[in-house]
Amino acid sequence: MALIVQKYGGSSVADGQKIGNVARRVALSAGDNQLVVVVSAMGKTTDGLLALAHQVSPSPDPREMDMLLATGEQVTIALLTMALHALGLRARSLTGFQAAIRTDEAHGKARIKRIDAERVRAALHAGEVAVVAGFQGLSEADEITTLGRGGSDLTAVALAAALKADVCEIYTDVDGVYTADPNIVPEARKLSRIAYDEMLEMASLGARVLQSRSVEFAKKYAVPVHVRSTFKPDPGTLVTREETAMEDVVVTGVTHDRSQAKISILRVPDRPGIAAQVFGSIAERTIVVDMIVQNISRDGYTDISFTLPRRDHARAAAALEEIAKTVGAEGIVHDERVAKVSIVGVGMRSHSGVAAKMFATLARESINIQMISTSEIAVSCVIEDKYTELAVRALHDAFELARERPAERGAHP
Ligand code: ASP
Ligand code: MG
Repeated sequence: MALIVQKYGGSSVADGQKIGNVARRVALSAGDNQLVVVVSAMGKTTDGLLALAHQVSPSPDPREMDMLLATGEQVTIALLTMALHALGLRARSLTGFQAAIRTDEAHGKARIKRIDAERVRAALHAGEVAVVAGFQGLSEADEITTLGRGGSDLTAVALAAALKADVCEIYTDVDGVYTADPNIVPEARKLSRIAYDEMLEMASLGARVLQSRSVEFAKKYAVPVHVRSTFKPDPGTLVTREETAMEDVVVTGVTHDRSQAKISILRVPDRPGIAAQVFGSIAERTIVVDMIVQNISRDGYTDISFTLPRRDHARAAAALEEIAKTVGAEGIVHDERVAKVSIVGVGMRSHSGVAAKMFATLARESINIQMISTSEIAVSCVIEDKYTELAVRALHDAFELARERPAERGAHP
């Protein structure tokens, strides 16, 4: 008998019929396993609640916002548990509070501190399916908190860690993690296995399958995470510890992110403190900067370029116009039509020439590279947005990602 934590996302429980389907899926697994099921709010409920809050207040109080948002998941646990009862299963719903998911006080982005999984364990021992509300917790001061958007993934992984579950299954509307977006690359392949670090890079680079924090948590506690489809029975992708065989493959996937914009500040005086001033003013507005490039200085002046989320771009540009004046820069230029394409793979640690191959591939397609950044296991290039598809296809081809890697055979959990 295995202990399995399953998580079903908002699109999997979007209406009564879908909740019924999930209940049948749960019933199939319940046979000879102990099951904890974590669910998100139905469909776009959380977005709807957020919009409502902003209708009644321009800046809703964070405590009240969490009070509101946590209701979404509470609806789903009750409905799913009723659906399980209707199938003759024994099941019990538990809120984040009842499951003793203790967090810090940071409303809207709380961190899980500990889980006293006694109540969940008691339900399992009594032969019940424990249906736990995702995304919510309780602070030390007994305030309801939420874990940030997509936080139900984190609830599931954290429960799996606390219960020492055999696997944490994340059911979603995609059937796994692909070598590239299949909408762009028809030959993209579903990976049967991927290392935590690769998944983290892919998540932050735009492949939105799992919430990043849940992957960090899974890595820290070595929780095997199986990303799979709610609607199909086939196995999906196992996110797991790195294995030596994984290093034989240089590149695991190509990702792209079209949600970025680029801003450059031209002819900034090149003296100490300028970058601090520029990025200080951006940080004050809680805008997260991604890549930064500063050119070499000529006659005491330099250019600084950086990328940021496109939605923050107007606000940042306004702030920078001001800063440019105060520090005596020539001005700013911005470009909303940029995209970031990246290659990811733990094999990069032990292979050389990977970045060069990427640049050569883009050059062959006459795609100009505007900015470059690298990490231990990824290389990213900022390019003109209209070349995104071309770039992703060319890279997928150049690194032969359509071919199955030996490390993947027989990988399924
Ligand atoms: N309902 C929350 C959200 O939409 C949490 C989740 O779906 O994981 O962000
Ligand atoms: Mg979600």
